[in-house]
Amino acid sequence: MEDKSVRSRFLRVKCEDCENEQIIFDRATTVVTCAICGRTLAVPRGGKALIKGEITEVLE
Ligand SMILES: [Zn+2]
Repeated sequence: MEDKSVRSRFLRVKCEDCENEQIIFDRATTVVTCAICGRTLAVPRGGKALIKGEITEVLE
C-alpha cells in the first residue's frame, strides 16, 4: 500500500478468523466489522483506515 496516494480506494479484505471477504472503503470513518463473525476489520485513523485483515484485492 502506498500512503502517498490521495485517491480513495475500496479494498477487498479477508477476515483472519472466518475467511469472509468484505469490501471496505480505505478511508472508513467508523470501525468496520466482519459481517459474519464480528471481528474488527478496519479502524479509522483520520485518513486511511488501519486495515486489520489481509487485503486480497484493491479496487480503484
Ligand atoms: Zn469474520
